[in-house]
Amino acid sequence: MHSSCEYDVIVAGGGLAGMIVASSAAFYSKQSLKILVIDRNPISDLGKKTMNGWVCGDAVGKNSVDYMTNRIGISWSSPEIEHPVNGVIAYSPDHETAISFDGEGYILNRRVLPQKQLQDALKVGIEVLDNTALRSLIIEDNYVVGVEGEDLKNKEIIKKTGKLVIDCTGVTSVLRTNLQIKSFIQKRIDRDDLESTGRYIYDFDIDGDDKTYFDPDYCIIHLDQNLAPGGYGWVFPKGKNKVNIGLGVQQKAFISYNKKMGKNKDLKMLIDEYVSSNPIISKPKLSDDEMDIGNNWGTWQVSVRRQNDCMVGNGYMLVGDSAWMPKPLDAGGIGPAIIAATIAGRNIVEAIQSNDVSENGLWKYNLDFIKDYGYKTAGLEIFRRLLQSLSNEQINYGMKHFLSKLDIEKITVGEHPEFNTVDKLSLLIRGAMNKKLADNLKYTASMNKKLVEHYNNYPLVPDGFADWQNILFKYLNESNTRFQN
Ligand SMILES: Cc1cc2nc3c(=O)[nH]c(=O)nc-3n(C[C@H](O)[C@H](O)[C@H](O)COP(=O)(O)OP(=O)(O)OC[C@H]3O[C@@H](n4cnc5c(N)ncnc54)[C@H](O)[C@@H]3O)c2cc1C
Repeated sequence: MHSSCEYDVIVAGGGLAGMIVASSAAFYSKQSLKILVIDRNPISDLGKKTMNGWVCGDAVGKNSVDYMTNRIGISWSSPEIEHPVNGVIAYSPDHETAISFDGEGYILNRRVLPQKQLQDALKVGIEVLDNTALRSLIIEDNYVVGVEGEDLKNKEIIKKTGKLVIDCTGVTSVLRTNLQIKSFIQKRIDRDDLESTGRYIYDFDIDGDDKTYFDPDYCIIHLDQNLAPGGYGWVFPKGKNKVNIGLGVQQKAFISYNKKMGKNKDLKMLIDEYVSSNPIISKPKLSDDEMDIGNNWGTWQVSVRRQNDCMVGNGYMLVGDSAWMPKPLDAGGIGPAIIAATIAGRNIVEAIQSNDVSENGLWKYNLDFIKDYGYKTAGLEIFRRLLQSLSNEQINYGMKHFLSKLDIEKITVGEHPEFNTVDKLSLLIRGAMNKKLADNLKYTASMNKKLVEHYNNYPLVPDGFADWQNILFKYLNESNTRFQN
């Protein structure tokens, strides 16, 4: 460990995850640690993901926010919570099946939220350095001991040293991609595990009352391989006449869709078509609310794989999108980022207080995140691969016939469904495609069981990691081969 560090903790990236990590570390250390958050944006634009804004669907389950509130005492209310919802409804491509995943949730205002997070952080003595784009990590003796970047205002190189650097710079993290220490952290993501996504924030006139297209009390998801190849479309209410509407696609599926249809559409064209095909949303107008300035249209990437197989190295940890935490099934990354950031604060304090910020000293973070959230993500990754390989007809059939009440309850709480209905129906299933679908659903359920068990056996120390990961790869390769599309 670097002997004379300026800070105990440097949090790289002052977005959603970064601000919670900092606050959590302050909470668990009773404000005894010297913590610095560094973000490339000016303070007024803290947490902005890209030039395009704070691009997000903005939806989060109340249970995730409660997780943070109950542990580290941070609570959110209006205006950062812009609109409450009662759950999510997913529609089949033919709109004949609607599955309601009930559970309170919030539609956040991602532009406003970082300002609330900033106030919370400043109150507990956290320092924030803005306008600073980080370019690399400072390494000494195979340990991360600081960060290097550019002061964007004065065009100067800055260096800051810390006992620990927490990487919260989001999915495109240059720090992770160029990581120079020896560690088990995976540096790059497979292109097929990313979704290209985009959304508008619109005010609009309501035309009719078809709740399958807009519901002020529910987040709507439209599954349709023509509308959003390898992904889905969403209509999330931000008020009675205000909406966050967009979609995500898997690039590979989008390319084959364009080829099949003889088209050359881009993501924006797809989103524009999606908006104009919505019969309820009339005269959409980009929101010019002060709360949405610079944030009413944008595209960005989101990962849909399991979290990084290892999230710690000597002096370095990954939290949030930089660790590929969004849920593989729906790309919901706010919940896991909140959970991981809350947990990480405790692990950071334990490591610093025991004077061991080595991979071994930080290892418990891997285990703690897996225990509270990460145990299920590999199974959901397999399920996502299956879904991406299905035709609209198969999705229609599957949603109509194969989802039991128990399965819906499982998906509602973010778990893999069991598809027990498939066994009961086995003699009644007509058509080779539907039989294959039934088999594949049962396969994902059984593979999920194996994967959850495997994650429950995540090695307690780094020594066992290589063997553990080999077995994980064996399971994933088998499933990937089965669902190659
Ligand atoms: C279109 C879209 C829709 C989504 N919808 C939802 C949804 O409805 N619900 C949900 O739960 N999740 C959703 N997600 C995912 C969710 O937005 C992310 O999981 C969440 O923002 C992750 O927070 P984070 O803090 O890890 O990363 P980010 O929000 O990306 O924050 C990273 C921060 O680090 C800063 N930064 C990056 N690089 C550097 C650097 N080199 N130097 C200094 N600072 C840097 C950035 O400027 C930013 O402030 C969506 C994502 C997209 C793209």
